[in-house]
Amino acid sequence: MLPLWKRTNVKREEAVRSPNCAGENLCDAAATCPLRSWQWWPGLCLALALLYVALPYGQLAGIIYPVATVIAAAGIAAAAYHRQRLFRPAAWMLVAAALALAAIGHGIWYWLDLRGLEPFPSSADMFYLAVYPLFMAALWVLRCQSDRDDGALSDALIVGTSAAVIAWALLIAPYINDPNLSLSQLLVSAAYPVADLVLLPLVLRLVFLQQTRILAHLFLLLGMLAYLTADLLYAHGNLVGWYTPGGFTDGLWLVAYALFAAAAWHPSAALEPFVHASNAELSRRRLFVLGVASVLVPAIILLTAERDTEIVRVGAIATIVLLLLVMHRMDGLLKETHRQSEALERLSRLDPLTGAANRRQLSNDLAREMARAERTGAPLGLAFLDLDHFKEFNDTYSHSAGDALLQDLVTAWRERMRPNDVLSRFGGEEFVVVLPDADMEGASQVVERLRQSVPQNRTCSAGLAVFQPGESADALIHRADQALYAAKDAGRNRLVCA
Ligand code: GH3
Ligand code: MG
Ligand code: MG
Repeated sequence: MLPLWKRTNVKREEAVRSPNCAGENLCDAAATCPLRSWQWWPGLCLALALLYVALPYGQLAGIIYPVATVIAAAGIAAAAYHRQRLFRPAAWMLVAAALALAAIGHGIWYWLDLRGLEPFPSSADMFYLAVYPLFMAALWVLRCQSDRDDGALSDALIVGTSAAVIAWALLIAPYINDPNLSLSQLLVSAAYPVADLVLLPLVLRLVFLQQTRILAHLFLLLGMLAYLTADLLYAHGNLVGWYTPGGFTDGLWLVAYALFAAAAWHPSAALEPFVHASNAELSRRRLFVLGVASVLVPAIILLTAERDTEIVRVGAIATIVLLLLVMHRMDGLLKETHRQSEALERLSRLDPLTGAANRRQLSNDLAREMARAERTGAPLGLAFLDLDHFKEFNDTYSHSAGDALLQDLVTAWRERMRPNDVLSRFGGEEFVVVLPDADMEGASQVVERLRQSVPQNRTCSAGLAVFQPGESADALIHRADQALYAAKDAGRNRLVCA
């Protein structure tokens, strides 16, 4: 079975593997130079993460941690700088800058902690918190070019709101009134989950926007999720008091950095993600995820109603927000359905090449005009027009030149017809014109005007019939068609009246 990123379409894969890819020597040459393959940077980060967790907490571990972060930052910056075929290098530069700030924060944090000073909260937190806006900017830059991602954003906000309430109710709320915590500790502790909660919808939006899974983006998103999870564990650990440095939580941040580096170096980071074509594309699976997310908040209210009124209040607010988001989503879907049905309706009655009415529309319009003529006694003309020697034109100038001529013809004829007249493409280069309120003389004048305005000095033949009360549409069309045959037989480039 092919790895996930290779299962995207072949053309895109070729773009990544193209020999013209100047970054290839760095990004895609796993076979020839293993040290330069995409696994190199994340592998190094992961090895350092393992070493960090395995070592007893102390000076060495305190050095390894910022060093691993710097390596991840350098790796991502190198990818953004060296790989020419990278989708949105600016996004990866932002991630690299974020990790550089995190590395400074780590340096300060370990320096303080290993000297027995209280590292929480400290100036390290300023650097840590500065990471978030950069991550947010990176995720925003990395989005696919689409003006129709409204649905993805709503979905991301629905899941994000639900996750926020759950994380808050389970991990933060029970400890928030702890009298042992100082105000600054409380504020900084809360700042991380709040930043996470802003970041989460952006991550989810990217997940929802992607139609094909691109492994590089999957790495990035998994990295973001690992980062958010580590943040939550850290916030919880600090509030409850179980957090100690050198353990799994710290390791999880390093895993996140390794995943970012893997994302930046993976060959598929060159691919532009496809977007969901429209708002209306709400798959069953996504609907299930949205349903679960929407139901979880009321469930939390039910479970905690007895013991914590604060959670009930927050849960109720979140439920209102969720309902509004769902309404907004439904509104988007409705608009999309409307737009599609309008497009479908247009398609069902117009000829796609020329935009003239098709035969279905002709028979509707003709029936309406015949009924009106029957009712009011007004005259009604119907003409068949057919380009002369059009096959020859195609053979001489190409089929696409023929197509262009047909399009110009319809444009020219439209300008010479009244709004009530109906111009329809009956077949290849045959047109039927319905002329309400036109008797034989008036209709002849119109048809002659049309015949004189065929583009590129081409000629056309026409047959004209005027509606006789009681006559069927088929009979009327047949008479005009016979007249057209007569015009062709008589040498073309003329009008014959039935
Ligand atoms: P006549 O004067 O007897 O009408 O001769 P003609 O060559 O116009 O008529 P014929 O029926 O022999 O050929 C019609 C040509 O119209 C043949 C076909 O290639 C061309 N045609 C039909 N539909 C299209 C179309 O959508 N685009 C183009 N470019 N050509 C078309
Ligand atoms: Mg013809
Ligand atoms: Mg023909």
